[in-house]
Amino acid sequence: MTLWHPSSDKLIEFSSGVGSAAMNIAVSAHLHFCKDCLRQVVEYESVAAVLFEQQAEVTMAKDGFETLMERIVRQPVSRPSTTRVVPSRFPPVVEKLMAHGTDALCWKKPMKNLRVSQLLTDEQGLTLGLHHMKAGCRVPQHTHRGHEISLVIEGGFSDQMGSYGVGDFITLSTEHHHSPQADADGDCWLLSVVEAPVRLTGPLGWILNPFIKA
Ligand SMILES: [Zn+2]
Repeated sequence: MTLWHPSSDKLIEFSSGVGSAAMNIAVSAHLHFCKDCLRQVVEYESVAAVLFEQQAEVTMAKDGFETLMERIVRQPVSRPSTTRVVPSRFPPVVEKLMAHGTDALCWKKPMKNLRVSQLLTDEQGLTLGLHHMKAGCRVPQHTHRGHEISLVIEGGFSDQMGSYGVGDFITLSTEHHHSPQADADGDCWLLSVVEAPVRLTGPLGWILNPFIKA
């Protein structure tokens, strides 16, 4: 069950089509897992439609969601040249960004058992990243220069604040110092939205900081 959700502000921004493209993609991916937030978004859409006296009707959650998805995935994205098609695995909005599979992405490997790929940077300077932690991998303690979102799209991880599973939408800030560790029973895949690169604060921070940027 999804325990961590986007704030109402983020859902409203998503519903009204404003805000950061990177953040809206993360919210869209969360809606793939969370029917409660999806219901809220459809309600916001309905209210907006009435307020602006639009004729479009949002009568079913599914239709509303598909319309929103279409809006989000229209963002310009550079795609790898390979044509290999892999079976659907992640939320559709994420699959659209990596239509040729994760192996075709450009990866950086800041440490053993962790690789990071920058999917896009939007017009507000927010970066959408994909993180792949091998089972049991622990990332050194770090904090964040700005707000950061982590969305679990496969597997799970834990840190000093709790444990997170698929669909959890976790908001981190400069107040959070943590050292996340992937669950031992499988790899963990995360989407992230970052305002600024993370800053490592543990003993290895000064070594790893220059390399951990997505
Ligand atoms: Zn939710």
